[in-house]
Amino acid sequence: MTIFTRFLLLVLVAGALSCAGESGDSSPRQFVMLGPPGAGKGTQAREMRDQYGIPHISTGSILRAEVDRGTELGLEVKGIMERGELVADDIVLELVEARLREPDCAQGFILDGFPRTIEQADALGSILDRMDRGPVTAVSLTVPDLVLMERLLARKRADDTEETIRNRIRIYHEKTAPLIEYYERSGALIRIDGDQPIEDVFTEIRRKVG
Ligand code: AMP
Repeated sequence: MTIFTRFLLLVLVAGALSCAGESGDSSPRQFVMLGPPGAGKGTQAREMRDQYGIPHISTGSILRAEVDRGTELGLEVKGIMERGELVADDIVLELVEARLREPDCAQGFILDGFPRTIEQADALGSILDRMDRGPVTAVSLTVPDLVLMERLLARKRADDTEETIRNRIRIYHEKTAPLIEYYERSGALIRIDGDQPIEDVFTEIRRKVG
């Protein structure tokens, strides 16, 4: 073997190894974003979508699209969403399961706005079991309530009136915040400081998620 052939072999082997390093772990990347309304879940989920090439699934956006289109489902959930209350589990679970079964979720997904309750988290676990998929990693963004109010009031979405916002934050603390401990207990929680500039939040996510 000439020195040149050896060199060539070395380069090929190194290339193959580095490719294996990048895609060697082919298990899907499955994330849920946790955090109060206004914590930046959507913003960071979109960054993660671009970084990891997996879909961003926002149950709030799916439901808002139904309301905008004036579908039967949209008419059913409109008032609930305007009051900042939670839409019934059976409706949300059916939407989520159908979405997770779409082919683009084969390599993973980022759920944003779901699960919202312990019951929904248990149901997500059952859906993934039925689909023969592994567990999720929960990315928890923490932001103080006062900062949330300021951010949400500046956002001015149809369901972002001051009263609705207060209601959504209250429901978050009552029903959704317990999910932090839920995922922590199974070792699936990654805590991120959401009260810093968007790029810094994402840098922290990449550092901790890999
Ligand atoms: P979001 O955009 O995630 O803040 O959601 C907007 C609204 O959609 C919420 O205030 C709820 O009324 C409804 N919604 C979104 N996701 C869920 C869910 N997982 N369970 C129940 N209601 C939801």
